[in-house]
Amino acid sequence: MNDDMVLVLNSGSSSIKYQLLDPESGVVAASGMVDRIGEEHAGIEHQVDGRIFEHRGPIADHAAGLRLVFQMFAESGHDLAAAGVRAVGHRVVHGGEVFYQPTLIDDAVVAAISELSSLAPLHNPANVAGIESARALLPGVPQVAVFDTAFFHGLPGAAKTYAIDAKLAAAHGIRKYGFHGTSHEYVSGRVAALLERDPAELNQIIFHLGNGASASAIRGGHPIDTTMGLTPLEGLVMGTRGGDLDPGIIAHLARSAQLSIDQIDEMLNRNAGLKGLSGVNDFRELQRLIDAGDAAARLAYDVYIHRMRRYLGAYLIELGGVDAITFTAGVGENSPQVRADALAGLSRFGIDVDPDRNVAEDRVARYISAPGAEIAVLVVPTNEELAIAQAAHRVVTAQGAG
Ligand code: AMP
Repeated sequence: MNDDMVLVLNSGSSSIKYQLLDPESGVVAASGMVDRIGEEHAGIEHQVDGRIFEHRGPIADHAAGLRLVFQMFAESGHDLAAAGVRAVGHRVVHGGEVFYQPTLIDDAVVAAISELSSLAPLHNPANVAGIESARALLPGVPQVAVFDTAFFHGLPGAAKTYAIDAKLAAAHGIRKYGFHGTSHEYVSGRVAALLERDPAELNQIIFHLGNGASASAIRGGHPIDTTMGLTPLEGLVMGTRGGDLDPGIIAHLARSAQLSIDQIDEMLNRNAGLKGLSGVNDFRELQRLIDAGDAAARLAYDVYIHRMRRYLGAYLIELGGVDAITFTAGVGENSPQVRADALAGLSRFGIDVDPDRNVAEDRVARYISAPGAEIAVLVVPTNEELAIAQAAHRVVTAQGAG
């Protein structure tokens, strides 16, 4: 193992995804996932050199999960503690107003991320658990937090402000923060490179369509709007989150269905979106149901596309002209149907998807617009782990840490 590798950790409420990779070449030495932490049937799948190692059995918490991961690394030939990792990069969901740069972690930073948990109760506590576990296991290795909100920190006032009581909003940190920033930033950079244009000259719309989904409008390399808000619940329809809804629905549900705020929050996070409408959250399963003639699945798909087109229209106008529209993440990279339906019938706006290019199964960044179309339409695989590894590496190099 060379000594310039970065370990990237993405700690969720019951999972830890990880990669050990070279930030320069992007080559992944090992990767895996701890799943169902805190449940009886937990497990780890660890991949190295094309081999898969598995562990099954209960895993009490993030610390126990990460200890097992380190054991699996050692058993598969990469002893992380001995061989030297240059840095650990942590994906942290909410940076609030405090963090908008990749940040070298110390006790004060951990405390501040923990304090931001009121803005992201499902995410930040898990991120802190991952950070604390990694610090304990690799005490001498610098750790860097990379925030999902950071790219959107400079959103214009008109885009980030909710029209509610301004004092109340200020007292509780209420503004649009935006999420998936690492992906939107990485992909927008790749688009500029592919177009061989200076990012400062480009107007872009990016659709990140995975389990979570968000869109962004980017002018000259800086986002001017995005669909996710104070939390990752706003905007597009997602696997288990419904995106935009009338806020009156929440009060109505509390009164009529006698649901508590926590029950409503749980429903909006885990049982809305495609799942709420069709019973399934995975897009491939949704497609199977549609193919089998399931009307609820069809409606879920139509709502999903309708919401995308609403934001596409909004962002075309906000930007006042667009050079590139890009699809990324699980659905965006793999579903030609979604891309075709989201952009259908828009030739008069300069948007023309080439049917053959759209269905090509290449796994690389590529054009799917027709040759000569006014607006470039692209598919660009995202790589948040690489972006986090590069950011962490930059921070430790700049600070002379590690
Ligand atoms: P992500 O969160 O980026 O991993 O994306 C996960 C989503 O991508 C899930 O809804 C998957 O069903 C969807 N997905 C993955 N592969 C495909 C595919 N070949 N066709 C359609 N959707 C896919």
